Amino acid sequence: MTDLTIRTFDAARIIPEEILTGLRGKMRGTLALPGEDGYETARTIWNAMIDRRPAVVARCKSAADVINTVKLARDAKLLLAVRGGGHNIAGNAVCDGGLLIDLSLMRSVHVDPASRTARVEPGATLAEFDKEAQKFGLATPTGINSTTGVAGLTLGGGFGWITRKFGLTIDNLTSADVVPADGESLRASEKENADLFWALRGGGGNFGVVTSFEFRLHPLGPEVLSGLIVHPLDEAQKLLPEFRRLANEVPDELTTWAVMRKAPPLPFLPAEWHGKEVLIFAACYSGDMAEGEKATRALRGLGKPIADVISPHPFVGWQAAFDPLLTPGARNYWKSHDFVDLSDGAIGAMISAVRALPSPQCEVFIAHVGGAMARISPDATAWPNRAAHFVMNAHARWRDKTDDGACIAWARELSEAAAPFAMGTVYVNFMPEDESARVETAYGANYRRLAKIKRRYDPDNLFRMNQNIGPAP
Ligand SMILES: Cc1cc2nc3c(=O)[nH]c(=O)nc-3n(C[C@H](O)[C@H](O)[C@H](O)COP(=O)(O)OP(=O)(O)OC[C@H]3O[C@@H](n4cnc5c(N)ncnc54)[C@H](O)[C@@H]3O)c2cc1C
Repeated sequence: MTDLTIRTFDAARIIPEEILTGLRGKMRGTLALPGEDGYETARTIWNAMIDRRPAVVARCKSAADVINTVKLARDAKLLLAVRGGGHNIAGNAVCDGGLLIDLSLMRSVHVDPASRTARVEPGATLAEFDKEAQKFGLATPTGINSTTGVAGLTLGGGFGWITRKFGLTIDNLTSADVVPADGESLRASEKENADLFWALRGGGGNFGVVTSFEFRLHPLGPEVLSGLIVHPLDEAQKLLPEFRRLANEVPDELTTWAVMRKAPPLPFLPAEWHGKEVLIFAACYSGDMAEGEKATRALRGLGKPIADVISPHPFVGWQAAFDPLLTPGARNYWKSHDFVDLSDGAIGAMISAVRALPSPQCEVFIAHVGGAMARISPDATAWPNRAAHFVMNAHARWRDKTDDGACIAWARELSEAAAPFAMGTVYVNFMPEDESARVETAYGANYRRLAKIKRRYDPDNLFRMNQNIGPAP
């Protein structure tokens, strides 16, 4: 028997052949067993640490495909995973054994410029959403790596360069079509199934499969004042307190993130700096260019930068600016904390960690949030962390499996060192797979309500390949 026959046989043992044949006959998309077309693509996700083999992949092409597949998974009591863009660090988009719903063939984006709304299918990436919306001079806040999936990012909350001006991604979600565990499609919005709509906005993939998202859009671009300012890491102790002060003063239009890492070989950096530790300020002004020049002046006046390449850039280009550093295929492990403010202690812990990077691709990101996101009540949506003003990510990233121990330990040590200065909450979309004990803390006061809504829409926890919220007893 060949390897392929063994795996096909295993799939048929987990799911009876006649059931698979029945589903195959109903689908517009395809079913892929190990060795069949599309199977490897569907099970391969952004984080190369995750190497799981589902028994079968349903490559859905429509809401009807999702409905039929969810019903099959529920009736056959299969372990079920749901894949949007496949970017999540924890790797819950793929399961071992069981059934994987792959949504990557459902990626249409339809923009209605008159109502300034967009309908987006769950396999679309941020790049695809941005490109369509920008054709009409419109945008909604998403994340900073354009290959990320709209689905997972939105369900976890979603923030990026224009969040301080326009809110989280979920603050711009107006409705979603969902297939909960009973396999009946529902619309969730402020007016229909409002409890489900509340839970979807931050509660992750716990409540069902979203087959369509509707977003509100805002006029923006086509260019935004944006770019990088690069300093030697030796200046970080002096400059990060200034960054903290400015972050607390600037208008909502200006967002500045700080990144500490070894300098990549960027064309505008003198060669002697390539591979040396640097502090990078990445800034984006979502508004008028002349106002942006004024708002960024203080940041650009700090210290003596090695390079300052802040200038007008197409918004879609800026949204992809970090893509070359965040390509798929590397091994990744993250730790994250929310901060009301960046204390000197937190800054010290981060700088010390950057002085001891275990691989050239490891980095510390400090995202600047707040603004419009903070003016919404923490109980208005499932996302509770509205008081966070900064989010720190320890991004451990490396290529060689033998470096797993050192790189994971580095992220954990920074996380522990920074914890005393942090809020205790965390963004679920930045949590690795070994943090299930942190889920309740992540949702804080919203957890109990989420657990009750989970009981209503998924009483048997069919959707458990996620940062899991158990159904309330
Ligand atoms: C390099 C990188 C940069 C990032 N930058 C940002 C950022 O700037 N801002 C930010 O907010 N986040 C950011 N993230 C985090 C990102 O939001 C999460 O990784 C998100 O889960 C990715 O969504 P996805 O659809 O690609 O992921 P997937 O791995 O496909 O999905 C993640 C989980 O979401 C659920 N899910 C996915 N699709 C559906 C669906 N249609 N219905 C129900 N459940 C579903 C499943 O439980 C799945 O396990 C970043 C991640 C990476 C790796």
